[in-house]
Amino acid sequence: MNIPSILTILGKDYKVNENTEILDAMGICGRVDQSRLEIQYSFSQEPQQMMDTLVHESLHGIDYALSLELSEGQITRLTTGLLCFMRDNIEFILETVNQLTEEKGS
Ligand SMILES: [Zn+2]
Repeated sequence: MNIPSILTILGKDYKVNENTEILDAMGICGRVDQSRLEIQYSFSQEPQQMMDTLVHESLHGIDYALSLELSEGQITRLTTGLLCFMRDNIEFILETVNQLTEEKGS
């Protein structure tokens, strides 16, 4: 499973670091530090849950950057909805990525 070392969220590069011992002791899967631009995750999660965590923490970053003021529950439900949409429309997602990559390269 490939975990990115950087996730770019609205132009800011967040470092993605494993911090299993601390997060497990806190009983959480991940966390984001907006001032340090860092997302931490626990490695003791199943791969699907790890992706959920990274998307969840990224949505916190988007929420922060856009001052949306979403609640924790809204972030959690949005994460579930987004992941389901991506899984159910994988061809569309891949085509979108292709189009965005072409635009970036041209
Ligand atoms: Zn959260």
